Amino acid sequence: MKIYRSIAFLAAAVLLTGPAGSVVISARAEYLVYSGGITSKSGPGAGSLSEAPAEAPASTAQTGVITIGEMPAANGSQADLPAETWAAQAEAFLSAETGAVSVQTQDTAAGEAVAKNGYHNGARIGLNSAWQFAYHSAIHTGEAVMYTASSGRKDRIVAVNAGHGTAGGESVKTLCHPDGTKKVTGGSTAAGAVKATAVSSGMVFQDGTRESAVTLRMARILRDRLLAEGYDVLMIRDGDDVQLDNIARTVISNNTADIHIALHWDGDGLSYDKGAFYMSVPDALKSMEPVKSCWQQHEALGNALISGLQTQGIKIWGSNPLDMDLTQTSYSTIPSVDIELGNQCSDHSDARLAAEAEGLVRGIGVFFGF
Ligand SMILES: [Zn+2]
Repeated sequence: MKIYRSIAFLAAAVLLTGPAGSVVISARAEYLVYSGGITSKSGPGAGSLSEAPAEAPASTAQTGVITIGEMPAANGSQADLPAETWAAQAEAFLSAETGAVSVQTQDTAAGEAVAKNGYHNGARIGLNSAWQFAYHSAIHTGEAVMYTASSGRKDRIVAVNAGHGTAGGESVKTLCHPDGTKKVTGGSTAAGAVKATAVSSGMVFQDGTRESAVTLRMARILRDRLLAEGYDVLMIRDGDDVQLDNIARTVISNNTADIHIALHWDGDGLSYDKGAFYMSVPDALKSMEPVKSCWQQHEALGNALISGLQTQGIKIWGSNPLDMDLTQTSYSTIPSVDIELGNQCSDHSDARLAAEAEGLVRGIGVFFGF
């Protein structure tokens, strides 16, 4: 495919030291593929796209890392040039290679990992309006945060989605299914509805702790365990509040991660801890895309997570898994699971969450075949 020299604007190009002292320059980019080649690109935070030629309809929107080229070592190196001079030379090289009118480089420290999605450690990832289903999202001014493993890298990206935690999310509705069909089970929103709460506020534990606070604490414990095992982690919610609805969380995961795990505890009104389970896809949805193409992978991941939890002695609910019509799985194009780690009666001490994180990490390993 040819990259047109149009009005490309690359942001967050990453520089990686190549094997022979040269510098491999690559950029994470969104590009639309037309019959004639790639005609538009944008990077994270990029402000503009090129015009698409009228005669060439878009076939597919794709995303990925484009290797721009190798900057010769003669242009200098990070070691012997001041940082600003180095950045300027790299930008000039990138402009010349791509014809971009404006570029921004991000100098990646030697040895710092860049995930296969092109994002470096600490990168903030918002919703790109060109992504499939993105236009169904109503709340998307927030950003997910990328964390890359520093050693023992497995080159797998796990989206860790701390359930709930979107201020105002309860007062906004989004389509339950991308095709506008009715919800087939109850839940936060009743069966038969076409639109569901964009992000519900979650339940409250018996001791008064909010579910959203526990899911965030769990996400951070899980993130650290995953990083230690060499996984890269996309933290969908990296603080008390993220302005990303369930569709935005899912679409960002679809486009930047290998698997998507949403963390929850069930608000079931019981007076005892019934144990953990995951939410499987109801049969009535298995003929609807993208569920049709993905539900078996969702369930394979869910089963793997449950098996991992069992290795740590975590109680599993006898009715696991529970069929549930979720916005998450209705929009997921990668293996995606809502795992309920218990209910409002469950122990949510750090020790308990650590054991659950260990179980999930083992389950993820099983799913990937490590
Ligand atoms: Zn929940």
